[in-house]
Amino acid sequence: MTAQNIIHDQLFLSQKSTSANRADLKVAEDLRDTLLANRDKAVGLAANMIGKNKRIIAFYVGLLPLVMLNPQITKKSGEYLTEEGCLSLSGERKTKRYRTITVTYQDMNLNTKTQEFTDFIAEVIQHEVDHCEGILI
Ligand SMILES: [Zn+2]
Repeated sequence: MTAQNIIHDQLFLSQKSTSANRADLKVAEDLRDTLLANRDKAVGLAANMIGKNKRIIAFYVGLLPLVMLNPQITKKSGEYLTEEGCLSLSGERKTKRYRTITVTYQDMNLNTKTQEFTDFIAEVIQHEVDHCEGILI
């Protein structure tokens, strides 16, 4: 379990990530540790930001980091415009988000879960799922 350096290479970050499985749990742990190591500057991370283009994201629910493998947003509602920053980019950029989303994902035990998120956590998840698609704000 080791915190990794943050990638800023936009060409690499523009590639779509591939599905994560049991073999990628080490990447998931590293991502969680990298999020903890950057707790003063990051609210969420995607695995390609540490150089592994697997569909894994990590973010905070309160003080606890939550890791999702293969997150899929299956429902979204309440469109709004906001501005976001990104640890891999400089400055803030305008983007469109949804207030309420439903996400299906696998946890670190590879159990599939479906959960609804709202407001700020929902915004962070949408940002990190975009990273998995190779989309930068
Ligand atoms: Zn980002």
